[in-house]
Amino acid sequence: MTTDSQPTRAASARPGPRFLVIGAGMSGILSAIKLKEAGFDDFAIYEKADRLGGTWRENTYPGISCDVPSHFYSYSFAPNPEWSHRFSPGAEIQAYFEDVARRYGVSSRIQFGKEVTRCAFEDGRWQIETDDGATDAGDFVIAATGVLHHPAYPDIQGLDSFEGSVFHSARWNRALPLAGKRVGVIGTGSSAIQIVSALVDEVAELSLFQRTAQWVLPVENPAYSEEEKAEFRRRPEAMAEIREEASRAFTEGFANVLVDAESPLLQAIQDLCAANLENNVTDPELREKLRPDYRATCKRLIMSEDFYQAIQRPNARLVTEGIERVEKSGVRTRDGRLHELDVLVLATGFGVERFVRPMQVTGRGGMALDEVWKDGPFAYMAISVPDFPNFFMLNGPNGPVGNFSLIDVAELQFAYILQLVDQVRSGACREVCASWEAMRRFDAERREAAKSTIWASGCKSWYLDDSGLPTAWPWTFDRFREEMSQPRLGDFDTR
Ligand SMILES: Cc1cc2nc3c(=O)[nH]c(=O)nc-3n(C[C@H](O)[C@H](O)[C@H](O)COP(=O)(O)OP(=O)(O)OC[C@H]3O[C@@H](n4cnc5c(N)ncnc54)[C@H](O)[C@@H]3O)c2cc1C
Repeated sequence: MTTDSQPTRAASARPGPRFLVIGAGMSGILSAIKLKEAGFDDFAIYEKADRLGGTWRENTYPGISCDVPSHFYSYSFAPNPEWSHRFSPGAEIQAYFEDVARRYGVSSRIQFGKEVTRCAFEDGRWQIETDDGATDAGDFVIAATGVLHHPAYPDIQGLDSFEGSVFHSARWNRALPLAGKRVGVIGTGSSAIQIVSALVDEVAELSLFQRTAQWVLPVENPAYSEEEKAEFRRRPEAMAEIREEASRAFTEGFANVLVDAESPLLQAIQDLCAANLENNVTDPELREKLRPDYRATCKRLIMSEDFYQAIQRPNARLVTEGIERVEKSGVRTRDGRLHELDVLVLATGFGVERFVRPMQVTGRGGMALDEVWKDGPFAYMAISVPDFPNFFMLNGPNGPVGNFSLIDVAELQFAYILQLVDQVRSGACREVCASWEAMRRFDAERREAAKSTIWASGCKSWYLDDSGLPTAWPWTFDRFREEMSQPRLGDFDTR
């Protein structure tokens, strides 16, 4: 291993590094804007879909909105005075990313309809291939391929036999009219809860198939008035103040405390959720069915202003019996009952362990990322994998996930990556990635810290790996911010 506290070899006089950005969601757009800003204009952005936006392009289900305040879920450099609500709907978020990408001259640089299928480090450079057989080469890869990207389908017997319409929440069939239909929703994550609230008054019957009850934090979602928007346009500092306040609230009241299961602030969140359940669900039997048997925030916390009202509508049913199988006319539960349906929505989440894949990525000496990650994905500081030089991930494995702005996370990560790129730009080295030694140390510390987080307090969630250990950043968000402010260069293998 070499360290780059001192230059090891001067870079050759190449005209300037070329960057390959994979993915044009929030992170890919950010990368392109920041590369331009840093004076790197030689880059390509590959996007497999025919539109940018990632998550917000793909999730168009009724009721979709962000669950962190919109002025916080915005790029820090591109505040948006037009947000309609405190938590604005998904279509607005999609429009925001499209607008920012256009204004910053990024849209025209995206190569749409090109999925990167192969990405190999050969002779000191990254060679990529797209699904149409085209190739490209570059010095750096920015993998902005998303976390909640590949829909996870439940393994339920007979799903194929259903004669109504069935689709995943991230593949919503918008052409299908739902008025007067009997709709079933499987799952109780954030998407399911948003769908139930939005649909219940439109459909004839709504059945929510619940395996695990969820704690629900009550939030209000007021619309911004035209006067407020005018004020935001006139005085951008007003938006900055809201952003700052939301950032502080989410960091101090939330992200920082999740990592300490004993924190009194977690108890305060628990109390708020419990009071929401007690005060807003009148039928004691329904209330008990909706009461989780684990601690609030062990799973990603649901924020909703109206879910409990929705599930108590006369046409709504909470089904907790457990699904036996799907039949041609509906869902058969373990108590033998058939729930007849016209539409079945699978709000069953995402394959979060897939990160970057199915792209075939090979690092030094043809080492396959699939092989390196055979026991589960990992990355030093969520960004770099040893022996995959000049390959950086945004929102990669072991990064902060939870109820806060992943835009904030990606911005911090990109600033860190640029400092690593600077090692190459300055001629200190030509290749930079985490050393194995640093990776092992980071992973051991991460595993140890993960045990005392709330996510390890006894529930099943997508935060856990196969062994039941939380995979997310297990320290405070303040620590993440601090780590991201400056790479510990001694932890990097530079050549
Ligand atoms: C329903 C839902 C609600 C959410 N709400 C919030 C929220 O309130 N707050 C929050 O912070 N986060 C939220 N998230 C998380 C959200 O995913 C992130 O905030 C953010 O949008 C991620 O952006 P990204 O660019 O990293 O990934 P994505 O948005 O997933 O974009 C990745 C892009 O890469 C492309 N791509 C992938 N592989 C390839 C390849 N091999 N070749 C070419 N292109 C490829 C994809 O097509 C996609 O466009 C939510 C996620 C979901 C699913």
